[in-house]
Amino acid sequence: MSTIDTVTGDITRETTDAIVNAANSTLLGGGGVDGAIHRAAGPRLLEACRRVRRTSFPDGLPVGEAVATDAFDLPCRWVIHTVGPNAYRGQTHPALLASCFTRSLDVAAELGAASIAFPAISAGAYGWDADEVARIAVAAVGEHPKPGIETVRFVLFGPRVFEAFQQALSERGD
Ligand code: ADP
Repeated sequence: MSTIDTVTGDITRETTDAIVNAANSTLLGGGGVDGAIHRAAGPRLLEACRRVRRTSFPDGLPVGEAVATDAFDLPCRWVIHTVGPNAYRGQTHPALLASCFTRSLDVAAELGAASIAFPAISAGAYGWDADEVARIAVAAVGEHPKPGIETVRFVLFGPRVFEAFQQALSERGD
């Protein structure tokens, strides 16, 4: 059973074994947390993402899927890239968002990561309500324990999203 905690801050500073990137399906960078991760990791991250596109996902990473790269100049060991559903494109099914969290945990466990940090996937440019993201994220992580993963941390940008996650955790009795 993993410990689940929530902090406010910049996920690029996290020293968990893995951090999760709320990427887009091109894997070639973007705004928000994706842009911050690419800036902090340095240009080798983009090269690694291009390699993933060439070798494994020529048509792009599907929504709800996850894939890992090295973390290069970041203090963590791996970046796990996942693609959240975009509400502005009608991608509003909770299972799509839950899959981002569970598939990222699967990938982290395969890598041997003991700790993983998630941002509030889809709660920014992809237009999901923060409370809904928090409820889905907390439920998905709670229902998908992975052997070896001791710490799951939600790293939230700003008090509004932080409170949404705190609320979701307290509703589940954590
Ligand atoms: P999406 O396109 O999946 O909605 P965004 O990056 O636009 O992704 O936003 C997802 C969440 O990540 C938002 O709550 C946003 O405020 C937050 N965020 C942006 N930069 C960072 C960062 N450096 N660390 C942690 N969270 C971040």
